Amino acid sequence: MASADSTNEHGATAQILSDPLSGRKVIFAPSRTKRPGNFEARREPATPGEAGKCPFCEGREQETPPELFALGAANGREPDTAGWKVRVVPNLYPAFARQQVVVHTPTHTRSLADVSDEQLVLIAESWAEAAEHAWAQGFDHLLAAINEGKAAGATLPHSHSQLVWLEQAPPEVAAEVSRLQRDSCALCALLTDLDPALKLAERKLGDRTVSLAVAPTGRAPYELLIAPDDHQPDAFGSSELLGAALALAAEGVRRLNAVEGPSPFNAWLHNFQGDGHWHIELVPRLNTFAAIELGGGIFINTLLPEEAAARLREAPL
Ligand SMILES: [Zn+2]
Ligand SMILES: [Zn+2]
Ligand SMILES: [Zn+2]
Repeated sequence: MASADSTNEHGATAQILSDPLSGRKVIFAPSRTKRPGNFEARREPATPGEAGKCPFCEGREQETPPELFALGAANGREPDTAGWKVRVVPNLYPAFARQQVVVHTPTHTRSLADVSDEQLVLIAESWAEAAEHAWAQGFDHLLAAINEGKAAGATLPHSHSQLVWLEQAPPEVAAEVSRLQRDSCALCALLTDLDPALKLAERKLGDRTVSLAVAPTGRAPYELLIAPDDHQPDAFGSSELLGAALALAAEGVRRLNAVEGPSPFNAWLHNFQGDGHWHIELVPRLNTFAAIELGGGIFINTLLPEEAAARLREAPL
C-alpha cells in the first residue's frame, strides 16, 4: 500500500494511505475521545402515519409510475396491483434518461437491515433483470445503489434501491478498472492478505464465498466492503451470490445500528462489463465530508478499521 509520511507540528506522524481499489487518499486520525455514540448523524425515526401514506407499500401501486416488472407475483396478477414481492418502477424525478426504483418489500420496511434473505435474493434478481434490459437497449453500465436516511440522500423511508442506466462506466468504476484486472487484482490481493481482525462474516454458496469486512482504507468510520473471494467481474450473472452479498450488507447495517443506533448510509455495487472484480461498498454517513475531503480529495477517517471491526463484531444482534 503506497503511503507518504508527514510529521505534524506536535511531532506526531500521520500517514497518507492510498486505497488499493480506487487510489483514493485516506488519513486515519483516531481520537481517543471518540466513543460509540459520539457521531452526530442518526437515522430519523418513523413519523406518525408514515406507513399510511407510503407510495411504495403494497396497495398503493397507483401512486408510483406504472411498474416495469415485479418479482414474486402470483400467476395472473395484473400490473400495478397488489400481490408482488419486489417491484421495479421508473423514478418519478429522474436525473438520467433511465433511472428506476426497486421497492424492496411489499410491507413498510424502513431498512435493508430488516429485509429477509429470501427478499434480498429477489432484489438481486431484479437488479440482474434490469441489467438485461439495459444491455438489450445498448447501455453499458447499470449503477445499483441504496441510500438510507435523509443524511444519505434518501427521500422516502421505505427500503428501496436506485438503478441508473449509463452508456459507460461512471468515473468511480472507471478509476478502479486498471487496478482490478485478473492476475494483478488489488481486490484479490486485499482479500488474500486481509487482516483476520477486519473480517466480520462470510457466506458460502457451493464452492464460492462472499465476505464482509471493514474496509482497510475506508473514507468514513465503519466503511464496509463486501466481495466474492474469487475474481469475478459481473455480479448480475450470479444473482444468488449477489443476494448473499446483500445479506452480508444487511448484517453489516444491523451491526452498525447496534453499535451507533439507527445509521444513515450509502451503498453501491461496483460491477464490471469487461475484466474487474465486483464488490459492494457501504459508507455509513455518521460524519460529514468537509473541505479537505471535497476540495482536497483526502479523506480523514477518525476511526481505525481495527477499532471499527472490534465494535461491529461485538455488537449484540
Ligand atoms: Zn412503505
Ligand atoms: Zn480480483
Ligand atoms: Zn469500488
